[in-house]
Amino acid sequence: MSTLYLASTRGMCAGVDRAIKVVSVALDKFGSAKVWVLHEVVHNRHVVEDLKARGAHFVESLDEIPDGSVVIFSAHGVGLQTVAEAKRRGLEIIDATCPLVSRIHRKMNAAGLAGKSAVVIGHKGHQEVTGTIGQYQGDPRLVHVVLTPSDVENLNLTTQEAIFATQTTLSVDETAQTVKALREKFPNIEGPKLDDTCFATQHRQRAIKELAAMCQVVLVAGSPNSSNSNRLKEVAQSMGAKAYLIDDETQIDLRVLENVDKIGLSAGASAPAYVVDGIIAFLKAHGVKEVIEVGDKALHTSFPLPKGL
Ligand code: SF4
Repeated sequence: MSTLYLASTRGMCAGVDRAIKVVSVALDKFGSAKVWVLHEVVHNRHVVEDLKARGAHFVESLDEIPDGSVVIFSAHGVGLQTVAEAKRRGLEIIDATCPLVSRIHRKMNAAGLAGKSAVVIGHKGHQEVTGTIGQYQGDPRLVHVVLTPSDVENLNLTTQEAIFATQTTLSVDETAQTVKALREKFPNIEGPKLDDTCFATQHRQRAIKELAAMCQVVLVAGSPNSSNSNRLKEVAQSMGAKAYLIDDETQIDLRVLENVDKIGLSAGASAPAYVVDGIIAFLKAHGVKEVIEVGDKALHTSFPLPKGL
């Protein structure tokens, strides 16, 4: 007889909710033939499949989009060159970049115009980091991507003035170490008080710590390419729990739940609520007798849709 402990603060954040609504409203407004999304609008397989089923096209390059179409930029944001190329092509642009990512973009724009070096703490190659460094308006040799304190050890800056920014979905604890190393090595570097991880990332990591402290196994609903979901899994592991990232209930290996009386469940910021409901139903059908919510629920936030939608 096991009990399922459910993180009260889990699942879709305001930025993801907005990005999905943007695609949905665009499909209604322009018709599916015209709506093309550059990159996965959010990193969740179910969300992308649902929107594809409604007719949205997902592509990795602007070259794949026919003339006269609408292009939607994903929640992770894009660089200035992509925006310029979409304009040159005459595509109608709808920007689903999360407003919290756009705020970081503006800092990068300003740093570039002022000729300051910019250090971005994040995962090289992740869509958000690619977009953020692509927002630097200046010599690209002044932009650096680091992740760990040892990356900072090897970092050299060639300008007097510098700023730093972080990916929004990093581990709060690990990022604090990298920021500390950065401030020690470059005492004048400008940046946020702590980091640029967003409130959704912070709240979900705090909630899963509480959950992982009381459960032997923690399941995290999210796709393998979701940064914030992977961080939730790692945070749970850092608390001593066994943690597994699953797209949905079909990926649950019941063997890992054998003899486990306290199972934890959370969901990444891009995972739909129906996925969590499906996991709960599956676990109830396989021996879970009680479901208990754990922790405070973070206040619900929402962001307005872009102008024109
Ligand atoms: S995880 Fe944070 S930055 Fe990313 S879309 Fe959600 S609110 Fe925005």
